[in-house]
Amino acid sequence: MPALRGHHLICLHFFDGEGYGQAFIGNLKDILQKLEYSPVEICSGADDVCIKCPDLKDGVCQYDKNAEEDISAMDDKALELLGLSHGCKQDWDDIRNAVPEIFADWYMTYCKGCNWISVCGKNSLFQILPAGKP
Ligand code: SF4
Repeated sequence: MPALRGHHLICLHFFDGEGYGQAFIGNLKDILQKLEYSPVEICSGADDVCIKCPDLKDGVCQYDKNAEEDISAMDDKALELLGLSHGCKQDWDDIRNAVPEIFADWYMTYCKGCNWISVCGKNSLFQILPAGKP
């Protein structure tokens, strides 16, 4: 069963094949494929996506100086919006169906300042959701 941290429960719905190199992209595709027939377990800290990320060092996100704190706050916000918590298991479809409901808040809180917005902005779902205009 794939294990994902909070913010990946939202951001992965806008994945269209771009990421940090082939290993990262391949791993992400595998995870999304597994989620078609398996629930996701919600974890805290580095998850199944992070393990192939070049910015993960000794189990800690080192994307930038305060990355671990910033990402943990992002995870908490995602779980709050989705009404989920660490350790629970949830069907990916249920999460996918919940995203449109909470996206406007997520967009204003995180997408607007995110380095990936130009990538997510190409995604058809991202484009039709309210506030989804980069
Ligand atoms: S723009 Fe950033 S925060 Fe928004 S969905 Fe994409 S990766 Fe997540």
